[in-house]
Amino acid sequence: MTNRRTAIITGSTSGIGLGVTQALAASGVNVTLNGFGDAAEIEEVRSDTARRFSVELRYSPADMSKPADIARMVQEAEAALGPTDILINNAGIQFVAPIGEFPVEKWNAIVAVNLSSAFHTTQAIVSGMKARGFGRIINIASGHALVASPFKSAYVASKHGVAGLTKTTALELAAHGITVNAICPGYVWTPLVAKQIPDQAKTRGVSEEEAKLALLATQPTRGFVEIDEVSSLALYLVGDIARSITGTCISIDRGWTAQ
Ligand code: NAD
Repeated sequence: MTNRRTAIITGSTSGIGLGVTQALAASGVNVTLNGFGDAAEIEEVRSDTARRFSVELRYSPADMSKPADIARMVQEAEAALGPTDILINNAGIQFVAPIGEFPVEKWNAIVAVNLSSAFHTTQAIVSGMKARGFGRIINIASGHALVASPFKSAYVASKHGVAGLTKTTALELAAHGITVNAICPGYVWTPLVAKQIPDQAKTRGVSEEEAKLALLATQPTRGFVEIDEVSSLALYLVGDIARSITGTCISIDRGWTAQ
């Protein structure tokens, strides 16, 4: 147990979640990491980050599509590191296909991981945050929480749902010192984006290079958002200075959703 701030960050073994973990750890926050991946690599990242920033880092292999796993993750995290001050709902998956052929199991998995997991984690931590009169909840949504693209029915629907969940939770918790916000990044070059390029190319009948350029065509500044831009915004939102920012969906998308 410790007097430091404590965070749970879902889907933090890769990409944006890992970047946010590093940024919070660097500012002295103890973190429960979560996500899939090679056990040895995860342990290396966990122990290196803990040592480098002199913080406590735990790893939970909980599957965010399973409510029982989520309940256990929160229970074990709080038993080991203390009450949760900061919750970052970041775990997310993608699948690209025309709606007529969209596999039902992919729809169910995307809604479970991208949307329902944020409901379950929030439900598990909210009474503790209310009792302590402090909390920061950040839902990593997407530009797709605000606008749509073809062939991403489940992802776009789940992310629009995250925007709605964010606003509702913010209103309910506003009087308790708890802020709830969504970060809506444009395209960030992470494994999630890299993995969808072959499917995009196949669905659109173009080369993989053309599919990559087509993604960037939606961002007027023609480039990917960097992970550290997203983690810096998250770091700002968890600070005391951001106490008046709640219920918002903050875009960091190189101008994409201004169109
Ligand atoms: P990523 O694939 O690099 O990381 C996703 C993380 O989620 C990994 O740690 C993975 O292990 C974890 N994960 C996946 N399924 C899980 C499950 N069932 N249970 C627990 N963990 C699970 O992806 P990323 O690009 O860093 O995406 C992170 C978040 O940012 C997602 O919610 C994504 O929708 C959102 N986002 C990404 C982009 C982008 O361009 N990369 C843009 C906007 C929003």
